Amino acid sequence: MRPVPPESLLDHSSEPIFIAAPEIIAWARATFIDDGASLHNEDHRHLMHASLGALWTNVSNARAGRSIVGQCEHGLPPLSSWQRARFEQQLVGWFGEVPDFVLTFDARFCAEADDVTFAALVEHELMHAGQERDQFGAPKFRKSGKPAFAIRGHDLEGFIGIAARYGAVEPGVKELMAALSKPPLFSGRDVAIVCGTCEARKAA
Ligand SMILES: [Zn+2]
Repeated sequence: MRPVPPESLLDHSSEPIFIAAPEIIAWARATFIDDGASLHNEDHRHLMHASLGALWTNVSNARAGRSIVGQCEHGLPPLSSWQRARFEQQLVGWFGEVPDFVLTFDARFCAEADDVTFAALVEHELMHAGQERDQFGAPKFRKSGKPAFAIRGHDLEGFIGIAARYGAVEPGVKELMAALSKPPLFSGRDVAIVCGTCEARKAA
């Protein structure tokens, strides 16, 4: 069963709230990440070694007239000393630790989304939870042996112009063509999601 947000977040009159949602992470691992997951995706393999935190929120988040319904961030962004300590305290309060990535989801959108849209949204955010690569495309690791986690973009705009002129020369384009040449796992669905991480990258 997919996770659903708590009722308390669906009441429009309530105050701004963020609630830790370990059920989203448990579901995402069982659905996309773990070996034998029902919709297993090898692209998320490094996340088997990541600590992930998820939040439901009732705070609406609009950018350029579009409602953002999901976002993926570094667990601990660069901050000054007290900011960092304050932020850490908040994260530990929610998750019991400082996660490698924090995923935030709009509770009202998720309550109304169908199962495929919800799955696409969660997996979209997981795709941002990436691992750094070296110049040869090999995944990077820290000295501790943990993957070097990094926010990964997957905007296509940059690819399209190059592909139109030169073919599939950019990394990822061949894979994209191969993926589109096969029927999708879910067809005939109108899945439309807007993500804060993508919007922020576009604006940058
Ligand atoms: Zn995105």
